[in-house]
Amino acid sequence: MTQVSAAVQAIFARRRDELGRRVKALEETVPALLQGQLDESLRARAERDAHKLAGSLGMFGLPRGSELAREIEEVLGVPDGPAPSAAPRLAELVLALRGQLEDAPVGSQDHLPAGPPLPDGRTLLLVSADPVLTERLSHEALGRGLRPRGAASPAAARHLAALDPPDVAVLDLTFSEADRDGLELLVDLVGSRPPVPVIVLTSSEALVDRVEVSRRGASGFIHRSRPASHVVEAVRETVERRDRGQAKVLAVDDDPAISDALAVMLAPVGLEVSTLNDPRRFWECLEEIAPDLVVLDLEMPGLDGIDLCRAVRADVRFGQLPVLFLTARTDAGSVKRIFEAGADDYVSKPVVGPELVTRIENRLDRVRLYRQLAETDSLTGVASRRKSSAALEDLIAMADRYGQPLSIALIDLDHFKRLNDQLGHAAGDAALRRIGAMLAGAFRGEDVVGRWGGEEFLVGMYGMGRDDGIQRVAELLESFRTEQFSGRDGRSARLSFSAGVAEFPRDGPDLHDLCRAADEAMYRAKANGRDRVLAAGSPRSSSPEQPDVVVVEDDAALASVLVESLQTRGHRTRWLDDGPKAVAALAGADPDLSADLILLDVDLPGLSGLSVLRRLAADGVLSRSRVIMLTARAGETDVLAALELGAIDHVAKPFSVPVLMQKVRRALSR
Ligand code: GH3
Ligand code: MG
Ligand code: MG
Ligand code: MG
Repeated sequence: MTQVSAAVQAIFARRRDELGRRVKALEETVPALLQGQLDESLRARAERDAHKLAGSLGMFGLPRGSELAREIEEVLGVPDGPAPSAAPRLAELVLALRGQLEDAPVGSQDHLPAGPPLPDGRTLLLVSADPVLTERLSHEALGRGLRPRGAASPAAARHLAALDPPDVAVLDLTFSEADRDGLELLVDLVGSRPPVPVIVLTSSEALVDRVEVSRRGASGFIHRSRPASHVVEAVRETVERRDRGQAKVLAVDDDPAISDALAVMLAPVGLEVSTLNDPRRFWECLEEIAPDLVVLDLEMPGLDGIDLCRAVRADVRFGQLPVLFLTARTDAGSVKRIFEAGADDYVSKPVVGPELVTRIENRLDRVRLYRQLAETDSLTGVASRRKSSAALEDLIAMADRYGQPLSIALIDLDHFKRLNDQLGHAAGDAALRRIGAMLAGAFRGEDVVGRWGGEEFLVGMYGMGRDDGIQRVAELLESFRTEQFSGRDGRSARLSFSAGVAEFPRDGPDLHDLCRAADEAMYRAKANGRDRVLAAGSPRSSSPEQPDVVVVEDDAALASVLVESLQTRGHRTRWLDDGPKAVAALAGADPDLSADLILLDVDLPGLSGLSVLRRLAADGVLSRSRVIMLTARAGETDVLAALELGAIDHVAKPFSVPVLMQKVRRALSR
């Protein structure tokens, strides 16, 4: 590995898995090519992977890797695709490339390489009842240039936040699962202006309800046993992601006085300025900082601004980057040279602050406009497919790095064509806008929402397993169903959607495979009657005719609410309305129904729930089915008797459906 800066090395360490996945994709082309089965989509994807590797490996100190990737790109990119006879050469190149990547030094997993420090001291609010944890995190945060402020309780945290508004917060919820104060603090921090991103510490003992915490806008989850460096690195990354909204300017001038003056002039208008006095480090800085605009001095020793500008314009990655010159020469010849090199504008020295600020802002406004046009879907206001894929790739890399789950949901409106036909295209558009707004409101923090295609949306949920993801999307479906859309002739209609949810990494190692898994589940949801959210992977119960949840409940209104809620979450359900029917269907040596979970009412006509439970226990049904009792009066003796007989949980009526659904989720995931 040739010498690269620590910061670039840190980026390499973080991107390593992603680079590995790209190489793996290239490896897959070899057998496919040999068997004459290299289809166009695989070929095109591999060519893109090779192109990206060629572009990045050199920067990471692996110039040989870049050369190999470029050769692979050439092999894959020949007109009409490579012939099977090219397979041995391709295999050789891919193997050599794999070797390059494997020989590069590995950064330790537990001690994440520290990313570039944040500009000036950001205030980090640490809320934990554990003084040892607070101390460890404070120490680490100080070492990374953050200003830590510890609070032992939510009340203390509010007090501190009022005195010294934090830029980011870490909230330890592991001690206060039942404590609503912690959740309320989360809501207030996320809702404050400007919003404070909050990372929540979890532990396996205290079951933090991630759905609830995410719904309140948490940015992410970290297990509290992770090293302090890990938590603080996540904090740094969170702040950095938020900062990305702020425009960055790279100012290159061999005279430090000028570049420092630029920093001072531009900071008050919210521009983040990085200065560089040695033009030879230009490319390194450009990659690292990824500025939104570059200010170049015309004359510098060695390399002058004209050379740099030409090189920037020649590079596909930076071809669109605005470049503004500072120059002491404003004669016609110099100005002509500046524009010929591809500059967007120039400002003459001595620089007058307001003029420079105005020129920079004009340029940036245009960039923002173009970027927004490219990144935002104009009808719904959510991210475009391109933008959301990039954000999802980032999120997957982050989930990988911090060992967090991540779920993606593919959502497709049901019978949308019919709505267009019946109510008109304008009503269809209104429905798309509505679902876009609902998605944007329901998924915040690190979540990603994108319009994936016509009436299809993709959501990425950071820190969520599949079951929790299903719960969140199902809640959205429940409120979307109640929306009414009106169109021509005063007619109106309601809509639903079908969704599939896939989890990283168990349903796929990358975005492509995750989408495929979610898409497959979404189509199963359509086939099973639409208007529901299904998990990727094979269904839980072995036989498709068997329910996974049986509801034994004589109150028809309550039973129908339960059945609908369960079906929305992808469960196959059966309803039985009295005790004898339950025994007939569920008990005995070879019962008609075998479910993973039985929701069993205590007060049932014919035969009480406890008697039913006794029969199920005697017949060995409880070894394969779990039972949650629904108790009417909080009859403690009933509950104790039920638990003694083998029920795993109980819910007292009247209960909230979300609470019961959470218990169902837990019961089924055990
Ligand atoms: P299914 O439940 O199987 O998904 O049925 P569907 O009718 O929703 O699916 P289909 O793919 O047959 O039709 C999708 C429709 O979405 C067709 C297209 O006209 C409509 N559509 C796509 N984009 C837009 C849009 O931007 N505005 C409007 N109004 N309609 C759109
Ligand atoms: Mg569709
Ligand atoms: Mg559809
Ligand atoms: Mg009853």
